[in-house]
Amino acid sequence: MFENLSTKLDRAFKTLKGQGSITDVNVASTVKEIRRALIDADVNYKVAKQVTDKIKEEALGQDVLISVSPGQLFIKIVSDELTKLMGGSAEPLSTEGSPAIILISGLQGSGKTTFSGKLASLIKKQGKDVLLTACDIYRPAAIDQLKVLGEQVGVDVYAEPENKNAVEIANNALDYAKKNGKKVVIVDTAGRLAVDEQMMDEIAALKKSLNPTETLFVVDSMTGQDAVNTAKAFNDRLDFNGVVLTKLDGDTRGGAALSIRTVVEKPIKFISYGEKMEALDVFHPDRMAQRILGMGDVVSLVERAQQAFDEEEAMRINKKIRKNQFNFEDFLSQLQQIKKMGNIKDLIGMLPGMGKMVKDLDIDDNAFKPIEAIIKSMTPQERKNPELLDGSRRRRIAQGSGTTIQDVNKLLKQFNDMRKLMKTMNKFQGGRRGMPTMN
Ligand code: GDP
Repeated sequence: MFENLSTKLDRAFKTLKGQGSITDVNVASTVKEIRRALIDADVNYKVAKQVTDKIKEEALGQDVLISVSPGQLFIKIVSDELTKLMGGSAEPLSTEGSPAIILISGLQGSGKTTFSGKLASLIKKQGKDVLLTACDIYRPAAIDQLKVLGEQVGVDVYAEPENKNAVEIANNALDYAKKNGKKVVIVDTAGRLAVDEQMMDEIAALKKSLNPTETLFVVDSMTGQDAVNTAKAFNDRLDFNGVVLTKLDGDTRGGAALSIRTVVEKPIKFISYGEKMEALDVFHPDRMAQRILGMGDVVSLVERAQQAFDEEEAMRINKKIRKNQFNFEDFLSQLQQIKKMGNIKDLIGMLPGMGKMVKDLDIDDNAFKPIEAIIKSMTPQERKNPELLDGSRRRRIAQGSGTTIQDVNKLLKQFNDMRKLMKTMNKFQGGRRGMPTMN
């Protein structure tokens, strides 16, 4: 996410790092580089100028503390200004109402339907009964897509494939929700490839009739400056409450994230970073600023882990580790939970200072593929009792998984080392528990 911008900002700070104090001259040159980096990242020119003027003013107004170097102080100022630029603090989504109605707007292909599924899953995890409503009356495939997502996240989907009146469908969905005790209704709507009057009329009519709790505008962050222009067009007509930025996992330059708030004066509420249903975060401007400046985002990383890991499963595996019974079935289950947290490179990039280091590395979701293929080529019996894996079984597994016998041996060795370590840890903990205390 935003690696190019991060690299350029880092370069801008370098000029200051070796210097003893902040002066008019070094501030001016650093600020100029920051402005160029922002414009290269597709940040609207006016916004880039506004924020860098503010950074300059702040930097020159500071008495440099003895304990803080000019470089660090400057990074802090930039971080604070980027945070403000993106809205200051997180703006929560309201799900109050009986039921709460969340209307989803945006162009076709921006990621509305995918986001609707993700949001439904998130709200469901918070313990509220959700209904998804398919109001795309032009593309039957969109209705099917929502049904598939609904099934995947375990949420009901309301649709009337024959009805061509979106307002009627949405109101019928509302009646259905009230009768069936649903607390939140998410309405996915039709988009077009570009802004057009008919689409705007339709979504405006839906908004007028439903009086939604929240109207969200979904936009593809990879469309750069266009994202901001589209946001403006939708906001002029719809006066939405919040923005959802999608496809931040792609090759986005970051401009949309940095300019939208200032241009439309509406908060970014969510960021979507992948096609998996878990790839959605509440947007926190401060955490995003820190990520852009290469300082990582450990808080979000921990939150993702908490969401992805199934507590019961974790307890079950913990018990098996304690009893020295950890096997390949458990290993596979752990791998699958880690994968749910998102793209591996993105995860590593959330650790402080690591974004830069993994920027050019070729790590992707396929990193686990050979390991999974090897485990899946084992019989259930072998997964539970890795001791069974003699030479001929290993050869069969290598063939079955499209790997080599060396790969299989390597995985088995790593797995055995891991089990040995677990055993040692168990002994140590068991020993400590058994030790008499002296008090
Ligand atoms: P809609 O036409 O606005 O409903 O858009 P869709 O939800 O159908 O999304 C369009 C395409 O973008 C689909 O192929 C999605 O899988 C993909 N997509 C949606 N959100 C994301 C995201 O955050 N990251 C990536 N990489 N792809 C996404």
